[in-house]
Amino acid sequence: MPELPEVETIKRELRPHILGKTVSAIEILSPKNFVGKKKEAYGQKIVDVERYGKVLVIALEKGKYLNAHFKLSGQMLYSKNAKRAIFKNKIPFTKGNVMPANTTRIIIKFKEGGALFFNDLRKFGWVKLTDKPESPKGVDVLSSKFTVNYLFSVLRITRKPIKVALMDQDKITGIGNIYANDSLYLSKIHPQRLSNSLIIDEIEKLHKAILAEIKKGIKDKGSSGADEAFILPDGSKGNHQRRFLVYQREKQLCLRCQSAIKRIKHNGRSSFFCPKCQK
Ligand SMILES: [Zn+2]
Repeated sequence: MPELPEVETIKRELRPHILGKTVSAIEILSPKNFVGKKKEAYGQKIVDVERYGKVLVIALEKGKYLNAHFKLSGQMLYSKNAKRAIFKNKIPFTKGNVMPANTTRIIIKFKEGGALFFNDLRKFGWVKLTDKPESPKGVDVLSSKFTVNYLFSVLRITRKPIKVALMDQDKITGIGNIYANDSLYLSKIHPQRLSNSLIIDEIEKLHKAILAEIKKGIKDKGSSGADEAFILPDGSKGNHQRRFLVYQREKQLCLRCQSAIKRIKHNGRSSFFCPKCQK
């Protein structure tokens, strides 16, 4: 599932290709994945490409917004060729490297040529045309509001395991399974610890670790792990999977103490940790 660094990467990579282009048509191949009156976007220029939490927001000139949420398996590809787009790499969850593919749900075409292909195997993602950007309730990890004090105020009132609390998008937006696991490892906190048991010193370390991991993820252009759908708009992979600390490293050695990394489940999602380093 794309997390903050992955959506940020999509935003940065798309911007030079689509900024200033005019939406000429939107093809909806799966009505479940589109909300809004598509014709309201026609003839409108793209004036900005932003990210709010995990939502990609394409701002149009007359106060309309095309918002995309990738959920579990969404992808956003860009090609200069709107009719038959050929990519260098095989696109995960499709049969090859040609768009539109079996998983393509929405195609956004431009007057100047080119198109965006929104793919989503599992159909939980969406594209919404709205009058306001879809901004999530929680505080964005990269915003100035995400301070040690804010993190403390969120954690001190809940007995949820810290791993689960970090992924509560209504409180903190942008952290998913990858960055929650690796931030907890970096700050030596066990994923099962009750959130309200953390002392301020640990919360400071955790806050620093979250920012460090999220920034590394952006620098690496996101994570395309073993079972991840995430790819860049040109179909290439991110690089952060090469630098995972504990995520998807079950039974491999801890980078600090050489103990075997363990895996447990929290709310149906895997938690990876070092049983010796993380307390
Ligand atoms: Zn260790």
